[in-house]
Amino acid sequence: MSNMLNEINELPERFLDVKADQLLELLGKPTLIHLQGEKSEPLFVCTLLHGNETTGFYAVQKLLKKYQQQTLPRSLSIFIGNVEAAAVNMRRLDRQADFNRIWPGTEDDYLAEAHMMSQVVDIMSQKKVFASVDIHNNTGLNPHYGCINVLNKKYLSLAGLFSNTVVYFTNPKGVQSAAFAPVCPAVTLECGQSGQMDGVSHATGFLDVILNLDQFSAEVHEHINLYHTVARVFVPEKYSFGFSDDATINFYPDIEMFNFVDLTAGRSFAAIEPESHAFLQVMNEKDQDVSGEYFTTIDNQIVLKKSVMPSMLTVNTTAIRQDCLCYLMEKIQIPD
Ligand SMILES: [Zn+2]
Repeated sequence: MSNMLNEINELPERFLDVKADQLLELLGKPTLIHLQGEKSEPLFVCTLLHGNETTGFYAVQKLLKKYQQQTLPRSLSIFIGNVEAAAVNMRRLDRQADFNRIWPGTEDDYLAEAHMMSQVVDIMSQKKVFASVDIHNNTGLNPHYGCINVLNKKYLSLAGLFSNTVVYFTNPKGVQSAAFAPVCPAVTLECGQSGQMDGVSHATGFLDVILNLDQFSAEVHEHINLYHTVARVFVPEKYSFGFSDDATINFYPDIEMFNFVDLTAGRSFAAIEPESHAFLQVMNEKDQDVSGEYFTTIDNQIVLKKSVMPSMLTVNTTAIRQDCLCYLMEKIQIPD
């Protein structure tokens, strides 16, 4: 086994009491915990792939506290991901890969961390994993929603048990839920901002439902709104950016209000420094540069060329530099 990974069959002492930033001290490294339940095919829950997104870990704690005096209705395997980043409340350390870009399917499969993730998939496949749930937070204001990577009714019904808002995406590569999609119904939960109790309660309730489920319905609720991520928006490295008026690209301070809102062509995203020719880079699902399809510059403003719905817009400058400014989506039909 890769020496980056701990694999254990019982809860470490104090696991139910520690805070996310104490997990490094408690576990030492990424840890896969298997707990026996009545039904043997385990639910797999993945937490803290991003060290500053704590909702998944606290949801697991809350779920396990509920079942402290009784047998779990179904076996549960828990992966505690980037404990080093969690110790300092960061998405990842500068020297680390992003733990949600290195699962099978990644372009960085030579990395030691990628070997560890591939091992986790193998272990869970051998255990005939029932479903996979990877829990995240946004840095910006967003509704709670589930993400899937294949358009399959079982996967949609899994995501639909969490939220009526479901996002389908196939890029970026190397994400956890895409790696599990060939193995079992898999979903990524986006539980709003880290540290909010309603996200923890919502995720805990969802996990409890799945633990008690016998099988996934092939029926999908018609009230589900399904969106397809068609592109990601980046701020080119060479431009300074901010949320007032002193950078090359100046976004509006209330830009997070655009999340999951239908924006029409002509909507301005940012003001730019005159003569700078600054632009936003847009990459489609095939990693092709489609900037010119989505944005144009009018009167020193970067404006939308066609109507889109953004998600994950944030005013957190580190998140923008480490990940992206936002995703662009379009609404699609539920598949037959
Ligand atoms: Zn995340």
